[in-house]
Amino acid sequence: MNENLNPFAIAQAQLDEAAAVLQLDPDMHAFLREPMREFHFTIPVRMDDGTTKTFQGFRVQYNDARGPSKGGIRFHPDETIDTVRALAAWMTWKTAVADIPLGGAKGGVICNPREMSSGEMERLSRGYMRNVARFVGLTQDVPAPDVNTNPQLMAWMLDEYELIIGHREPGVITGKPLPLGGSAGRTPATAMGGMFAIREAAKIVGLNLQGATAAIQGFGNVGSFAHKLAQELFGIKVVPVSDEFGGIYNAHGMNYADVKAHLQRAGKLGGCPNTEPVSNKDLLEMDVDILIPAAIENQLTAQNADHVKAKVVAELANGPTTPEADNILNDKGIYIIPDFLCNAGGVIVSYFEMVQNSYQFYWDEAMVNERLDLNMTTAFKAVHDMSVTQKVDTRVAAYLVAVNRVAEAVRLRGWV
Ligand code: NAD
Repeated sequence: MNENLNPFAIAQAQLDEAAAVLQLDPDMHAFLREPMREFHFTIPVRMDDGTTKTFQGFRVQYNDARGPSKGGIRFHPDETIDTVRALAAWMTWKTAVADIPLGGAKGGVICNPREMSSGEMERLSRGYMRNVARFVGLTQDVPAPDVNTNPQLMAWMLDEYELIIGHREPGVITGKPLPLGGSAGRTPATAMGGMFAIREAAKIVGLNLQGATAAIQGFGNVGSFAHKLAQELFGIKVVPVSDEFGGIYNAHGMNYADVKAHLQRAGKLGGCPNTEPVSNKDLLEMDVDILIPAAIENQLTAQNADHVKAKVVAELANGPTTPEADNILNDKGIYIIPDFLCNAGGVIVSYFEMVQNSYQFYWDEAMVNERLDLNMTTAFKAVHDMSVTQKVDTRVAAYLVAVNRVAEAVRLRGWV
């Protein structure tokens, strides 16, 4: 039987498993299975050739019981409403497991940024914000960058929002450029948080990180900083890395600065000096200590999970592992740091960005990282302890921690 790879079906199945362990009240379970609100809209954009192209946009506010909803905006040709729903659900669990006072949301636009000019991207970003401006805000819902969106796009969206409301409100969006109220340490935050989680997992599995090997799938914002920080903070040897076109490999480890410089020159990782090519499929099955999926969903499936040799899987990407693969990896005794714990660093520093915007007082990067470490380590410990006391795998444990917290807020509000 084929696996169901619909991300929202997977997110619901994960919740169902946690609800069964928690013996969650069925009415609460039914409420938490669905997004509270979603917006579907069209964005007409004047293209450079004078034609007008209509794009489809989404914003899903999954749950805001614990605070204003929070989540990035993806621009991707394969974006679907179910992907956005799943990511919004995972944001809800992520903010809860990180114990920051926010809910979960996500946005997306079906488009191919690789085929669009800077001007077209600006008009699309401003058009997106015009559609959601009534529904977002510091106390309602706070967007951020995600796949194929970046600080410049956030700057255009912020500017559009402030033109609409008529005053400055930088905390409406995070991941902004520093001069517009961005936080120090936000760009590497997801990977940095993942490093703190890997450090804690290494203690549990008895892995010495100095000289340990890692494979990283994806070399975008998250994957490239994961390479840099793994090398600089712990002396981990990154053996293969990849992008959507394929991977590169060197058994002795690859220097981050060399790989980055090649990528900037060539536009893709392939052909990097002193490396051999490796496919994305083979990368996942390599004999390394730590496997870091940092690209897209559904990479570890029933087809390949049995071939994974890593001791630790650190899910920096959202949804890289299907439920079937999850069972296989757990049966093999692999320590999984589940996505919404492992990659919570991004939203934690986004929250710090909102706090700094509200106070109009800014922290340096050392302060941001110190606080991030505290949040990540506390969240990791809560999940690990739950997995030990409840005798469940780490993903179910993360759900138990998160769902308990969201359900408590829903109950206190009297919604269910
Ligand atoms: P990005 O667009 O900067 O980079 C994505 C990388 O993945 C690129 O190197 C791309 O070439 C590669 N890629 C795309 N398709 C691939 C495929 N089929 N096989 C292998 N590589 C492929 O995105 P990002 O911001 O680095 O996000 C990566 C993942 O991390 C996503 O799942 C995202 O949701 C998640 N995430 C990002 C953040 C953040 O702060 N940026 C926070 C939490 C989670």
